[in-house]
Amino acid sequence: MNEREWIRRLRTRAAGADHLVLGIGDDCAVLRPPAGTELLVTTDLFIEGTHFRRRSAPPRALGWRALARALSDVAAMGGTPLAYFVSIAVPEWAWGPWLKDFYKGMAESGSRTGAVLAGGDTTRARTLTADLIVLGHAPAGRALRRDGAKTGDAIYVSGELGVEAPGKRIRFEPRLALGRYLLENRLASACMDVSDGLAMDLSRLCEESGVAAALASPLPLAQGVAVERALTHGEDYELLFTVPSRQRVPATFNGVPLTRVGTIVAGKAGRVTLDAKPLAARGWDPFKV
Ligand SMILES: [Mg+2]
Repeated sequence: MNEREWIRRLRTRAAGADHLVLGIGDDCAVLRPPAGTELLVTTDLFIEGTHFRRRSAPPRALGWRALARALSDVAAMGGTPLAYFVSIAVPEWAWGPWLKDFYKGMAESGSRTGAVLAGGDTTRARTLTADLIVLGHAPAGRALRRDGAKTGDAIYVSGELGVEAPGKRIRFEPRLALGRYLLENRLASACMDVSDGLAMDLSRLCEESGVAAALASPLPLAQGVAVERALTHGEDYELLFTVPSRQRVPATFNGVPLTRVGTIVAGKAGRVTLDAKPLAARGWDPFKV
């Protein structure tokens, strides 16, 4: 398979989305986001040895995961995915069936959400490195941000924390429907996805909002997971959101539990406590040696 054949292959897959005016094959993609919306843009690196190991899962599952991670950021803003772009550097071992299956996995994960592959770049390298760019849209001025939490707001998290023990649940569902529900019903004052552990991510949300947070046990832990692990475990991809006290939040959304885990309080921006004890903002940190 040469590059032209590869592009032809990708092109047929992307055909047929109405917000995609022009997809793969020209110098640029042309997209038409719905009237009255703003564009959301997120990029996510997926690198062999850093974000995945070659033999940890089949390429189809890894492709699914690579895109789902970026889609989770669109979910965190209450957005709707529009298109994705993949720039990928491929070592020899991956050229051929592995790569086809990796793209198949991304297409499966994307097609469930309306995201189509609209472009990208392919080259060779010694380490497999993929950069996934996802575009989404949200009603103008309404995207769920991290900086809106206010003292007295309730803190919620979706699903269970610490589920992703290594090797388990490679494929996960980005919480897109929940994000949109929070946006449409004006429930959340702030929102983000939990990608680096609740302790660190909540601290980030609080820092952006200029507030502190008081968590209270019990947290919604996955079965058999210790609190410490659930707090610092990186890859939950659940939504963490704050809700003004006058709002009511259902106990579940589409079967996913929504659990109140604490309250936004006044204090040093970014400070988080659990049962009144200070919590270190620890979690996945790529710069930690
Ligand atoms: Mg995120």
